[in-house]
Amino acid sequence: MEAVVFERAEEMREIGAGISVWANAMRALQKIGVTDAVRAAGSAGVGGAVRLAGGERLSEVPAEEMEGRFGRSVVLMRPALQRALLAALNEAGGELRLGVEYEGFRQDDPGAVVELPHGREERCDLLVGADGLRSTVRAGLFGEE
Ligand SMILES: Cc1cc2nc3c(=O)[nH]c(=O)nc-3n(C[C@H](O)[C@H](O)[C@H](O)COP(=O)(O)OP(=O)(O)OC[C@H]3O[C@@H](n4cnc5c(N)ncnc54)[C@H](O)[C@@H]3O)c2cc1C
Repeated sequence: MEAVVFERAEEMREIGAGISVWANAMRALQKIGVTDAVRAAGSAGVGGAVRLAGGERLSEVPAEEMEGRFGRSVVLMRPALQRALLAALNEAGGELRLGVEYEGFRQDDPGAVVELPHGREERCDLLVGADGLRSTVRAGLFGEE
């Protein structure tokens, strides 16, 4: 599969935040061969508790129990996860195009045509919408929801 990623951000900026990659997400990453890089960049055994300022426990995520039931989760910095995904894309011969905003699509028999700014278009066999909470792709398929 020749993957092309259209990302509207002009550059891949580092944000200084961590992310817990839960066991179900690790299983998805395994399918694209990214788990080794994620494990190497992070710490296993995500767990802990949410407490009020006074120390009263509101909820708990018991790391060992979670791992036993669902498998291992990993916590790492978001840029490290992004680097692992980008490396996998590059290794597979894929391409990341920054500063390109998706505007819409048309479907026909062989696939789809992706509509980009200034009347530019790209033909593809398959369009995957991975454009977040306010997804333009999803709105184009199902309307505003
Ligand atoms: C403070 C905070 C902490 C969190 N912690 C965790 C955690 O520990 N573990 C966890 O699993 N989840 C966590 N989440 C949730 C997690 O960040 C989101 O579920 C996840 O980022 C969603 O991924 P996504 O790819 O769907 O969308 P996004 O991460 O929003 O990515 C969408 C991308 O599409 C691009 N884009 C959007 N529209 C267009 C367009 N028209 N054309 C081109 N590009 C476009 C955007 O620029 C963006 O790069 C947290 C969220 C927050 C806010």
